[in-house]
Amino acid sequence: MKITDVLVIGAGLAGERCAIEAAAAGHSVLILSLVPPRRSHSCAAQGGMQAALGNCAKAEGDSPDVHFLDTVRGSDWGADQEVARIFADTAPLAVRELAHFGVPWTRLRPGINRYHIKGEQVDVDEPTDKAGLIMHRDFGGTAKWRACYAAAGTGHATLYAVDSQVVRLGIDVLDRMEAIALVHDGERCHGAVVRCLRTGRLETILARATVIATGGYGRIYGGYTSNAVINEGMGAVLALDTGIVPLGNMEAVQFHPTGLWPAGILVTEGCRGDGGYLLNAAGERFLVALEPEKQELASRDVVSRHMMNEILAGRGVDSPNGPHLWLDLRHLGEEHLTTRLREIYEICHDFLGIKPWEDLVPVRPTQHYSMGGVRVNKDGQAYGLAGLFAVGEAACWDMHGFNRLGGNSLAETIVAGRIVGARIADFVTRAGPGPDAALGSAELKAQEQRLRDLAQRPAGGRSLYQLRDEMGEIMMNRLGVFRTGEEIEAAVRDLKRLLQEAGSIGLRATAPGPNPELTYALRLPGMLRLALVTAEGALARRESRGAHHRIDYPQRNDAEWLNRTLARWLPGAEGPRLSYEPVGLLDLPPGHRGYGASGYVDLDVSLEAYNQRVAAAQSAEGCLETAEPVGSSLRPGAWRGAFSAPN
Ligand SMILES: Cc1cc2nc3c(=O)[nH]c(=O)nc-3n(C[C@H](O)[C@H](O)[C@H](O)COP(=O)(O)OP(=O)(O)OC[C@H]3O[C@@H](n4cnc5c(N)ncnc54)[C@H](O)[C@@H]3O)c2cc1C
Repeated sequence: MKITDVLVIGAGLAGERCAIEAAAAGHSVLILSLVPPRRSHSCAAQGGMQAALGNCAKAEGDSPDVHFLDTVRGSDWGADQEVARIFADTAPLAVRELAHFGVPWTRLRPGINRYHIKGEQVDVDEPTDKAGLIMHRDFGGTAKWRACYAAAGTGHATLYAVDSQVVRLGIDVLDRMEAIALVHDGERCHGAVVRCLRTGRLETILARATVIATGGYGRIYGGYTSNAVINEGMGAVLALDTGIVPLGNMEAVQFHPTGLWPAGILVTEGCRGDGGYLLNAAGERFLVALEPEKQELASRDVVSRHMMNEILAGRGVDSPNGPHLWLDLRHLGEEHLTTRLREIYEICHDFLGIKPWEDLVPVRPTQHYSMGGVRVNKDGQAYGLAGLFAVGEAACWDMHGFNRLGGNSLAETIVAGRIVGARIADFVTRAGPGPDAALGSAELKAQEQRLRDLAQRPAGGRSLYQLRDEMGEIMMNRLGVFRTGEEIEAAVRDLKRLLQEAGSIGLRATAPGPNPELTYALRLPGMLRLALVTAEGALARRESRGAHHRIDYPQRNDAEWLNRTLARWLPGAEGPRLSYEPVGLLDLPPGHRGYGASGYVDLDVSLEAYNQRVAAAQSAEGCLETAEPVGSSLRPGAWRGAFSAPN
C-alpha cells in the first residue's frame, strides 16, 4: 500500500500541470499513466492554444473579454460563464509561463507577411515593435487571431516541456499503471486501487487528494474518432462507479470537420485557419454561401453539420469507404505546408502517400472532443465527494458547454491545471487525518474478487472486440452529428443488450500478467455505461444546442433547456439517473452566436431571476463549496466594450 498527498490519475497536459502546482507547494505527488507520459493524447494536438495576447496585426484589440465572448457563444450558452471568465483571464499568463518552460512558440515576423484569408491572398504588415513575440493563427472561429502555436506540433512541444518540469521537480510517475476503482467512504475520496499493466498486480494508493485527469471518452465511438486508443473514458467510469459523483453533459460530444477519411486521423483546423478550404465533389466552396461571415471557420459543430448535409444531399465524393469531401491546401504551397503545417504534410504523406500542395485531402467529420466529463465546481472538486478532483478533458468544469472552441482545450489543460493544482495544494494543507487504510484494503479485496470472477467465467460466445465494434457503429450512426429520438431509442436498446452480453462473455486468455483481453474486459462494461449515459442524456434533451443536434427538435430552447445534464449510476441500477442544474451565473445573455442557425426559444425569466437560483440549485445537486464565493469571478458587463469590436 502506497501513501501520497496527491494522486494524479493521468499524465497528459492537465494532470502534469496540476501535479506541478501541488508539488511546487511542497506536497508529495504521484502520477499514474497508462502509457509513458509523453505518449499521452495531448501530444497529438496540432493546431494551437488560445490566449488573448493580442500580438499580431489580426489580433489587434484582442483581450480576455473578447475571448470570453467567443467562448460563451461557441458553447451555445451551455458553458458556466464564471469558469469561462476565469479561463480567459488566466490563459495569457499560462501561455507565457509555457514559454519559460521552453515551448518553442512560433514567433511574430515583422513587416509584410502573406496570409490566405477567406480565400484571398492578403499582405499584412506585422508591427515592428512586436517582433519576436508569440505569433497567432486564425483558429476556432474567434473574433481575433488568438491561437498560439508551435508549427503544427503544439501539443507535442507543450507536453514535452511540461513533462520536463515534472522530471525537474522529481515527481514520481508510474506508467503502465491503471486506476480501476476509487477508494471512498461515501463522502470523502481516499485514493484508488490500481492495476499494473505489466504484472497484473493490484495495489492500493492512498491519498489526501485524488485527481482524475484521464482525458476524453472518444473511443466509445470505436474507430470513428480522432482520439488515441487510450481515450476510453476510464476516469469518467471511476467517478460514475461511485454512484455519488455525477457526470456532466455527456451527450455533448464534438465532431471535428476534418478527420482524414477513412483513417480518422485529425487534420488540424489550423489548415483552415491558415487558408485551406473545403470543397464538394463538384469542386465548389459550399461554405461561402452557407456561412458568409465565418465561412470555413464557423464553429466546429456548425461546419460539421453543413458538411454532413452536403454529403447527404449527394454532393460528396464517392469512395470505396463511403462518401467524403475535400480539404484543399494546394494554394498554401510546399514551403508553408512543410514548415507551419509540417505534421499535416507528414500525416498526408505517410498515411495517404500524397503531397497536400499537389493533391486534395479526403476528409469527413469524426468524433473528436468530449465536452462532458466528471462534474466539478470552480475549484475542480467533484460533486459529492470531497478530496476528489478532475481536470482537463476528463472534467466538466465547464467552459465548453455544448461546443468547445478550437484551441480552447489545450489552453484549458494548462489553465485548469494551474488553478485546480493550487486549490488541491490548499485542500491538502487543510486536510484532517490521513486517508483510511482499512477502506483501502477492503476496496483492494473487492477488486481482486472482480478479477477472479472475470477469469472464472466459462469462455465462449462473441469476443469483446466484436462488442466494441458494435458499440462504435451504434454511437456513430445513431449519436453522431445528427440525432433523432427514434434513432436514440434504438441505440439505448442495443447498448443495454451489449452491456448485458459484456457481463457474461468469458475470456480466452485469463493470465493475470500482460493480458490485453483481460484489461479490455475490465474496461468494456464501463465504456458501455458511458455510451448509455451519453445516449440517455441525448434522448432526454429535447432541443438542439451546440454539437447536440436533434432533427426532431431543431431549435435551441433557452426556456426549458438552459441547463446541464447530470448523470449518476446508482449501484445495481440498469441505467443512469438524470437530473439537471442551471448552467451557472449568466452575464452574457443568451442570443445568436453569429454563425449557424439564427432561431432559438428565448429564456422565459430575467437574468436576475435565473442567477438567483444558481447556487442553491447546484449545491442541491452535490456542488461542494468553492474556495471563493460564487460570483466573485464574474466582472458583470465587462464584455460590453468588447462586444462592439468588429467580429
Ligand atoms: C488529434 C487531436 C488534435 C488536437 N488538437 C488540438 C489543438 O490544436 N488545440 C486544442 O486546444 N486542443 C486540441 N485537441 C484536444 C486536446 O489535445 C485535448 O483535449 C487535451 O490534450 C487533453 O489533455 P488531458 O491532459 O485532459 O488528457 P490526455 O492528454 O488524453 O491524457 C490522459 C492521461 O490519462 C491517462 N489515463 C487514462 N486512463 C487512466 C487510468 N484509468 N489510469 C491511469 N491513467 C489513465 C493516460 O495514460 C494519459 O496519460 C486535439 C485533440 C486531438 C484528438
